[in-house]
Amino acid sequence: MKIGILGGGLAGLAVAAACRRHECEVLEADSAIGGHCRSLVEGGYTFDLGGPHILFSRDPEILAQLHRRLGANLAMRRRNNRIWYDGRFVKYPFENGLYDLSPQDRFECLYYYLNNDYPRPVNFKEWIYHVFGKGIAEKYMIPYNEKIWNVPAEQMAIDWVDGRVPRPPVEDVIKSAVGVETEGYTHQLNFGYPVRGGIEALPRAFAGECRSIVTDFPVRRVWREDGRWRVSDGRREREYDRVVSTIPLQDLAAALPEVPQHVRAAIDGLRFNSLIVVMLGAATPRPHPFTALYVPDPRFIFHRLSFPLSFTEHGAPAGREAIAAEITTNPGDGVHELSDAEVERKTIDGLETMGLLKRGAVEFVRTHRTRHAYVVRTFDYHEKLALALEYMDSLGIVSVGRNAEFEYINMDETVRRAFAVAARLDGERQNTAS
Ligand SMILES: Cc1cc2nc3c(=O)[nH]c(=O)nc-3n(C[C@H](O)[C@H](O)[C@H](O)COP(=O)(O)OP(=O)(O)OC[C@H]3O[C@@H](n4cnc5c(N)ncnc54)[C@H](O)[C@@H]3O)c2cc1C
Repeated sequence: MKIGILGGGLAGLAVAAACRRHECEVLEADSAIGGHCRSLVEGGYTFDLGGPHILFSRDPEILAQLHRRLGANLAMRRRNNRIWYDGRFVKYPFENGLYDLSPQDRFECLYYYLNNDYPRPVNFKEWIYHVFGKGIAEKYMIPYNEKIWNVPAEQMAIDWVDGRVPRPPVEDVIKSAVGVETEGYTHQLNFGYPVRGGIEALPRAFAGECRSIVTDFPVRRVWREDGRWRVSDGRREREYDRVVSTIPLQDLAAALPEVPQHVRAAIDGLRFNSLIVVMLGAATPRPHPFTALYVPDPRFIFHRLSFPLSFTEHGAPAGREAIAAEITTNPGDGVHELSDAEVERKTIDGLETMGLLKRGAVEFVRTHRTRHAYVVRTFDYHEKLALALEYMDSLGIVSVGRNAEFEYINMDETVRRAFAVAARLDGERQNTAS
C-alpha cells in the first residue's frame, strides 16, 4: 500500500519511520522538515524556532524511544526556572517559591491558599482561585495564563487542566512559604536536550528512518479519484492508497472539496494562538543561570524567556549569552500586526527594563513566527473538534499530531500516537492479506 503523509513534523516523520509494511511518502510544505521542532544553528548560537523544546515524559517507554534516537547526542539537564515577579527571581513553580517573595506577598499567598472557600469552578479563572487562592491567583496564575493564552481566563474551560497544571500538595505550599525547599512539576525537573543541532536533531533522527520525504510541497488540494487519493501542491500531483494528515485541521479542510458547511463552521470556530519567538545573542561576562524565566507582568510583550546555554553548551559562543523570548499573539491583538523590527525593539526594551540585557551588547537578532502554536480550550472545543475529526475519519483520512488532532500534546504524546497509527496501518495490510 502507498501512503501519503501530509506534513513533515514529528508526527508525520514518526508515522513514516515506524510504518514497516507500506511505502510511505512525507509531503512537507517548508524547505526543511521538523515543524514545531525546527532549530536555528547559526553564528555559534542554537535556538529552537518554535520556542524551547525539552524532552521529558511520564511514559518511560516513549521517552526511551526518543532518547534512543538521539543516542550520544543526548544530554540530561536539571531545570532552573524562575518567575520574574516584582523584580525578584521567584523559584518555579510559583507555589514552590513563595519564600522568594516579600513577606507581605508571602503572607497573602499562604493566607488565601489556606483560607480558600471559592466554590466549585466552572471556568479556568474560577479554577485558579479555587485551587490556589486569591494571592497566588492574582499575583501569578491569572496574569501569566492570560498572557500565554491571549484570552480572558474565564473564557477557558477546565477539562484540560489535570496533568497540565498540577495541584500542589498543601504541605509543599506551607513549606515553600516558610523556606523549606520543595520541588513542583517533578516530571520535568530533569530533562533531555540534544548536545548539537537543537531539538531539530530529534525529527532529523526520525527522518533518517524514512524512505521518501518531499519538501517544498505545500498541500493545497486533496481529493478522491478512481478509488485513490490525489494530493496536489498546485503544480505537482501525487497518488496514494491512504492519506495520513498531520497538517493543521484548518489547512486540511481548506484543501478538501465540498466540506459540509456545518463542519467548516465547526473548524473555523476552533481557537488557536500563534507564537512569535525573538532570538537574541549578546556579549556578556557571565551568562544568566536560568533555564526559563516566566514573566506574568503585563508591561512586557513576552510571557516567557529561555536561555539556550542551559540546554546545551552550544547554545551560544564563548563570552556570549543567548535569550529567546516567546510572545503569544493573534490577528487583531495589536502585536500580530507589528513588524519583526518593532517586536524585536519591544523585546529588547523589556529585557533592559528587567536588567537582563544591555541594548548595546546585542549582536544577533532573529525572529520566527509560528501560525499554529497553542490550541485554546474554549467551552465548545469538544463538540466542534468531534464534528471535524469524525468528518475526516468518514472520508478515510487518518489525523494524528498536535495540530491535525487539535490537541495540546507534547512531543512524547505526539510520537506515541504516531507509533499507534503506524501499527494500525501495518495491521490493515495483514487484515487485507488474510
Ligand atoms: C511553544 C511550544 C513549546 C513546546 N515545548 C515543548 C516541550 O518543551 N516539550 C515537548 O515535548 N513538546 C513541546 N511542544 C509540543 C511539540 O512541539 C509538539 O507536540 C510536536 O512538535 C507536534 O508535532 P506535529 O508533527 O504534530 O506538528 P508540527 O510540528 O506542526 O508538524 C506539522 C508539519 O506540517 C507542515 N505543514 C503544515 N501545513 C502544511 C501543508 N499544507 N502541506 C504540507 N505540510 C504542511 C508544517 O510545516 C509542519 O512541518 C511545544 C509546542 C509549542 C508550540
